[in-house]
Amino acid sequence: MSSRAFELAVPDIAPWRAGNTGVEGVWRFESGQPGRQVLVSALVHGNELCGAWALRSALQAGLRPRRGGLTVLFANLDAFDRFDPAVPDASRFVGTDMNRLWGAMDWRHDTAAHTVEHRRVLALAPFIEGAEWLLDLHSMHEEGEPLGLAGPLPHHAAQALQLGAPALVVADAGHRAGRRMRDHGPFGDAGLADHFALLVECGFHGAPSSVAVAHDMLARFLVASGAVDETDLPTGWRVSAPAPTQRLLTVTEAVTVAAGEPPRLAQPWRSGETVPQAGTLVGWSGGQPVRTPYDHCVLIMPTLVHAAPGATLVRFAREA
Ligand SMILES: [Zn+2]
Repeated sequence: MSSRAFELAVPDIAPWRAGNTGVEGVWRFESGQPGRQVLVSALVHGNELCGAWALRSALQAGLRPRRGGLTVLFANLDAFDRFDPAVPDASRFVGTDMNRLWGAMDWRHDTAAHTVEHRRVLALAPFIEGAEWLLDLHSMHEEGEPLGLAGPLPHHAAQALQLGAPALVVADAGHRAGRRMRDHGPFGDAGLADHFALLVECGFHGAPSSVAVAHDMLARFLVASGAVDETDLPTGWRVSAPAPTQRLLTVTEAVTVAAGEPPRLAQPWRSGETVPQAGTLVGWSGGQPVRTPYDHCVLIMPTLVHAAPGATLVRFAREA
């Protein structure tokens, strides 16, 4: 379980549920002017509410692209429908983690094994494949400073560092358990240097501050993409504090949960924390000690929530 109480209210997205594309939860607006195809998404995990708050704001404000096209996408509605603040971790997904099903989608023909998430990914894939810029809003199991996951391709990290936030940009290869939406199709192609995807972890799932981060990131992303001008944004989206200095970290290793003895952490680590000494005991996986591999190792999202064998326990990162 997470250490902190869940204080964030559930957004009412019922008026925005139908979409206008024939696919539930997906809205698409065209400016009729040249420009990028931009997609913003929330609720890839059903218990990560901050992004749904931000996208709801955009729809309620009637925000429309000035240039190119804008797609607004609520991803895992079935999981979101099951959200219960008493057991917030239970509605991350219904049958399968939706953020492990992308990429080659080898599972496509094994229809007998399909869960609601497999079917939903098939319905959403054309929208992701048609986008040029993608912002995917998430939150974290534990408290920690917001961070952007830029994937393994350098041009995505470079663009993330142009946004001015979040303070931590993390270049990483994702999860052994399967490919993420942010790495799907054109966003995993090194030759498509104008494509850009960023997954933002806006803070702890239940923290009201995650909603402010989601709005601020949505504002920065939409303006940088050229879809809207600063003056088009609803008031209150920008965080008033000056933009932080961004740091780029590279994940060198994602430690997965081993089978056997349940994993443990040696202390309540915080995501983004720097561990000075190499060899520091971080915890245990499958009964074996897990230690930092180098000095000044940054721990990215250490967590025991959803710690089934094969899931990511912690990532080790260092300054690029
Ligand atoms: Zn998530």
